Amino acid sequence: MGDQIPDLQFSSLGAISASISTTRKSFLEHRTRDVEFRLVQLRKLYWAIKDHEEDIVRACALDLHKPRFETEIAESGWLLNDIVFTTRNLHKWVKDEKAHDIDLPFKIMRPKIRKDPLGCVLVIGTFNFPFQLTLGPAIGAIAAGNTVVIKPSENAPNSAVIIQKICEEALDPLCYSVIQGGVSETQALLAERWDKIFFTGGANVGRIIAKAAAPFLTPVVLELGGINPSIVSKTADPRLVARRMLWGKTVNAGQLCTSQNYLLIDKSLVPQVIEEFKKAYKEFYPQGAKKSLDYSRIINKNHFQRLKSMLDNSKGKILLGGTVDEDDLFIEPTVVLVDSVEDSLCTQESFGPFIPILPVEDLDEAINLANSVQSTPLGLYPFGSMADVAKIISSTRSGGVSCNDAALHIPTLPFGGVGESGYGAYRGRSSFDVFVHRRSITSSPSWLESILAFRYPPYAGKLNRF
Ligand code: NAD
Repeated sequence: MGDQIPDLQFSSLGAISASISTTRKSFLEHRTRDVEFRLVQLRKLYWAIKDHEEDIVRACALDLHKPRFETEIAESGWLLNDIVFTTRNLHKWVKDEKAHDIDLPFKIMRPKIRKDPLGCVLVIGTFNFPFQLTLGPAIGAIAAGNTVVIKPSENAPNSAVIIQKICEEALDPLCYSVIQGGVSETQALLAERWDKIFFTGGANVGRIIAKAAAPFLTPVVLELGGINPSIVSKTADPRLVARRMLWGKTVNAGQLCTSQNYLLIDKSLVPQVIEEFKKAYKEFYPQGAKKSLDYSRIINKNHFQRLKSMLDNSKGKILLGGTVDEDDLFIEPTVVLVDSVEDSLCTQESFGPFIPILPVEDLDEAINLANSVQSTPLGLYPFGSMADVAKIISSTRSGGVSCNDAALHIPTLPFGGVGESGYGAYRGRSSFDVFVHRRSITSSPSWLESILAFRYPPYAGKLNRF
């Protein structure tokens, strides 16, 4: 593709229903059942992503000012690794599974579990990692043998255009299609029957998705956000806390579902942690974040305004950063000392570069405060000794935990929320598992009839034989 990325065109309602009926028909014709067919699709997708690596970098830069480094690692590189991992393992994953824990007499029936595709599935993506979080679930859906309709986020329009280009170049159009659009197009999609809907985005839209799926009893995966706490015990290393927590909130300018929303820090450690934040900020951005090529911008004016009012409404004291520039959609990484979890910076998911710090008396207070927040987080970031970290994990809930780290999630480990942060998990083998139906199969040989005849009426006297 040339330098210019064309404007995003939303799909017409006619195109939406045509592509759904084509993909559904293709599933019913069993086009995607053959494992070799799926592997070919995934390999073609691999090469199309490779061919469009520069377009991906450009689209992410236009949509989010995303640095090349972050795009290559977390968008194109991530997907390429995911496809390699999936294609290497697919033959193993699709194999029938032997049933375990079966009583001896039933073993004669050779019980096994087949991994069947679910059917025609819908993947709805989000804007912050537009390629990874849209094509990532689609890789699992393709591997599992489904036909797939993909709806990228309209909030990252350049990325949405490139996603469509990649899919149309790589994938069989009878089985896989991309629908572009905003709320009305997504609602038109949701009015249809699906065999699974995989949604990544905010909790409010997640509720809309679950409601729309209910009349059809369509299973849903909701990959939502969270008000993620970091709990820092007095045994933590302040330098490590500051460097890692600053990283967690500067990657993609904090537009990262797994980044920490607030820090609960043992009060004895607060002054040192603040000093270390200042040092780390200078080290990461010697000329300041605004002048750095390594710092993203906020996706659009709506999100900028939302973040600005969170900061304006905070009663906390800004210790670092605090600069904003609406024309440039720039918000500086900002450390704020707050005095309550009720502060505006803690009560909502910021999905931006804010680092509110709340000093606490001890670990018990931190755990109680983290548990008092009504929403169960997607991620939890405990810092401290092994004993302190173990105590934090065993007395809290969250989708995942990164001990002594921020935001990190190993790419092939199951990833998903709990409670308000969503349900269902994917990544690695789970991306395949989440898109298959585990179909239990038994077969009763005819010679078993003499024993099975026991179940037929008349029943008289049969129970006494036990
Ligand atoms: P978004 O604006 O990109 O919306 C997500 C999708 O929902 C888009 O495809 C959009 O078209 C669709 N949508 C929006 N409103 C709709 C409506 N009324 N009806 C039907 N569809 C609608 O993203 P967002 O919602 O602003 O995403 C930010 C949230 O996503 C944050 O809470 C973040 O934590 C969460 N997130 C979660 C993960 C995860 O993997 N768990 C990853 C990234 C982001």
